[in-house]
Amino acid sequence: MYRPSGHGYIEAVVGPMYSGKSEELIRRLKRAKIAKQEVIVFKPCIDNRYSKEDVVSHSGISIRAIAINHTEEIHKYITDETQVVGIDEVQFFDEGIVAVALELADKGIRVIAAGLDLDFKAEPFGPVPELLARAEFVDKLQAVCVKCGAPATRTQRLINKEPARYDDPIILVGATESYEARCRKCHRIKK
Ligand code: ADP
Ligand code: ZN
Repeated sequence: MYRPSGHGYIEAVVGPMYSGKSEELIRRLKRAKIAKQEVIVFKPCIDNRYSKEDVVSHSGISIRAIAINHTEEIHKYITDETQVVGIDEVQFFDEGIVAVALELADKGIRVIAAGLDLDFKAEPFGPVPELLARAEFVDKLQAVCVKCGAPATRTQRLINKEPARYDDPIILVGATESYEARCRKCHRIKK
């Protein structure tokens, strides 16, 4: 779709883990850079899966990013030249991220936000539902279900290789935790 530059808008890229959200975000941002647009990328400090300063996909492609603790910090990095703003792992930001995205888009900036639409309980994740409602463009990606090969729309949380319970704490000391992409049929939540 033709999206004229200088017209601000919000693009949301969502889906479960391994669905290619980071890859898609990086692809769009790299194309903007090829078009010589001024691009800046943010991610929350919590996610230091591979690198403190980069957005890195599971397949290993990456782009330079700024890790921030609070949504308000975004303002200090935006200049009159900024044309495109990328945000990864948007689900980990507070609700304020939606107001910031709207403000940037109103100023004429293209905002591309990627993140999980659902948590491991398959419930809407943090600010993402609001962001989806307010975005001009939404892409919902699927991974491949590791159990049956169907399109995966959910993230399975495993604790010591068993499906996590609904009320298991977010941080579990001494347990091994992992995540898998699964379809609706294969996704499990222990009550
Ligand atoms: P996300 O940001 O959505 O977690 P990434 O962009 O980091 O996803 O990674 C997507 C890549 O993960 C795929 O291109 C593929 O190489 C790899 N991958 C690993 N497991 C799966 C899976 N179950 N389904 C799809 N892709 C997978
Ligand atoms: Zn399945």
